[in-house]
Amino acid sequence: MTNQNVLVPESMEIAVAAVANPAPMFPYLPPHGGGASAGGVRGGFGIRRKCLPQLDLAENGGSGRINVWIETMEASSPKHKSAATLGVSASITGPHEHSTWMLSHPSALSMFDEITKALIGKQVVMFLDYDGTLSPIVDDPDRAFMSDAMRDAVRDVARYFPTAIVSGRCRNKVYSFVRLAELYYAGSHGMDIKVPAKGPSLKKPNGKAVLFQPASKFLPMIDKVYRTLLEATKSTPGAKVENNKFCVSVHFRCVDEKRWRALADRVKSVLKEYPKLRLTPGRKVLEIRPIIKWDKGRAMEFLLKSLGFADCKDVLPVYIGDDLTDEDAFKVLRNRGQGFGILVSKIPKETSASYSLQEPSEVMDFLQRLVEWKRLTLKSCTMV
Ligand SMILES: [Mg+2]
Repeated sequence: MTNQNVLVPESMEIAVAAVANPAPMFPYLPPHGGGASAGGVRGGFGIRRKCLPQLDLAENGGSGRINVWIETMEASSPKHKSAATLGVSASITGPHEHSTWMLSHPSALSMFDEITKALIGKQVVMFLDYDGTLSPIVDDPDRAFMSDAMRDAVRDVARYFPTAIVSGRCRNKVYSFVRLAELYYAGSHGMDIKVPAKGPSLKKPNGKAVLFQPASKFLPMIDKVYRTLLEATKSTPGAKVENNKFCVSVHFRCVDEKRWRALADRVKSVLKEYPKLRLTPGRKVLEIRPIIKWDKGRAMEFLLKSLGFADCKDVLPVYIGDDLTDEDAFKVLRNRGQGFGILVSKIPKETSASYSLQEPSEVMDFLQRLVEWKRLTLKSCTMV
């Protein structure tokens, strides 16, 4: 279906999920079994632990749920002093567990030769998260700038491979950080997608960029909950509420940890009035977004389809991200049996990604090496 500037492939129209049966909010499910598969994808990791419960806002009580939110935020933060002692990650942060985890999720840099072997003859499509992947996690989310060197690396990658930024941020905000017009942008956890006017993909009416916004009817609700959360959290020093257009982030980065529980409780109280919104814990953040069947994984599939690669056997998507919401994309890649995910993390986490990188500087190294490999490959082709 189409309207003025929104194009939605019929097969990807969105259904609002039943409130009584929301999508899982904790995407770190036990990973798949090990072993290599098509496309050079490495196997998962056999860490066994109790699955965390779904974070259902409609549930009675709530202290247990808030514990899970807080533990998840803490465990997602590599610098957090108690990350190794909390139930969420304790079983996967000891020295033995770390080295075992690295065997199943090796560094994408140390495995670079294996990775590039899998890329030969494939159409690589790059998907990059922003915060914690291209830029460091900083106290002030408005100052999460990427370095010029990183921007150069992303620009170079986009010269050789279609490249998309997939972020929880408002699309305009993440674009203001990246400032590369040739990229595809999926903001608000994929609920706000812009395909560049000059991209090699969808037909654009009047040559304009194409927008895809599956949650547009939630805009008034998101705006209202944003204003309510602003009011509800203003007494908590350091709390920051960010309006990401189709979702809202409540940042805990600058909040004293002693106040986390009270702040999470306030957020939960507000959301009781919004059964069509769901909450996902992330790295020192609680993310609020509509309960629709849409996430970063579906955004990635939409972009692949937009690029004409929906049923292409020769496409190889590479997704690099650091957060819980990126797991949706990692899982899609595993289910497709194509491409691979790279988790950016200094600590072992349950993940559906195949490889790991420790921090944004390693992401930059990986992107630079990828460009160099592609240049050498093209050069050797012209010399034959
Ligand atoms: Mg991130």
